[in-house]
Amino acid sequence: MRVKHKPWAKDKLLAHPEICVQNPTELKGNWHTVFGNHHPIHIEIGSGKGQFISGMAKQNERINYIGIEVVESVLVLALDKALAADVKNLRLLAVDGGNLTDYFSPDEIERIYLNFSDPWPKKRHTKRRLTNPRFLTIYQHLLPQSGEIHFKTDNRGLFEYTLQAFSEYGLLLQYVSLDLHQSQFEDNIMTEYEEKFSKQGYPIYRLEASFKAN
Ligand code: SAH
Repeated sequence: MRVKHKPWAKDKLLAHPEICVQNPTELKGNWHTVFGNHHPIHIEIGSGKGQFISGMAKQNERINYIGIEVVESVLVLALDKALAADVKNLRLLAVDGGNLTDYFSPDEIERIYLNFSDPWPKKRHTKRRLTNPRFLTIYQHLLPQSGEIHFKTDNRGLFEYTLQAFSEYGLLLQYVSLDLHQSQFEDNIMTEYEEKFSKQGYPIYRLEASFKAN
C-alpha cells in the first residue's frame, strides 16, 4: 500500500503501547497474557489501514485480533481506527509477516487472514507472495490442525496462483467464491482495498483453507 511517508509514525506507534505491541518476541507463547483471557487469536498479515481488523474486533468480542503491517506509515492509520473502535481484543504489530515464528509459538494462533495481499505479478517475485509455499510452511507451523487461512483478493492472477499453490501443498479448500459480494457469505467486513475495487466493478475472490480436514 502506497501512503505518504510519515516521519512521526514511529513515535505515535510508541506512544500507544496499549494497542501497538512493542516487544512481540518476548510474548511468544504468552499472548493470552496480553489479552487477559484464552480466547482464540486471529491475525491479519498486511492489515493496511486497518478497517477489516478493527471491524472484526468490534463484531467478535470473544476473539482476539492482531493486525500485522510492515509499513509504519500505514500502520499508524490502523492505529487511529483501533483507537476509535475502543475495543479490548485488538492489538497491532509493526513487523514483517515473514518472521511470524519469532513472535508466535505453534498452535498459538487459530486463523490467518490475508486480504488483498500484494500480487507480485512478476515471475521472479513469486516467492514474495504471501500465499507462496515458503509462507505456507510458516503458517502450517503456527496453526493447529483445525486452524484456517482466509484469503480475499481482487487480483485474478494472484487468486489462480493461490488456488494452485494451496492445492499443491495439500491444503483443503472450502467456500471458494469468484464473486464474494454476490455470494451467500454473511457478515463480510470490507477492507479498504475491497471497497475501492468493488466500487470500480471488480469481483472479489475469496477462499478458506485448512491444512487438514476438521
Ligand atoms: N489488507 C489491506 C491492505 C492491502 S495492501 C486492504 O485490503 O485494504 C497489502 C498490505 O500488506 C500493504 O499495506 C503492505 O505494506 C502489507 N504487507 C506486504 N507484505 C507484508 C509482510 N510480509 N508483512 C506485513 N505486511 C505486509
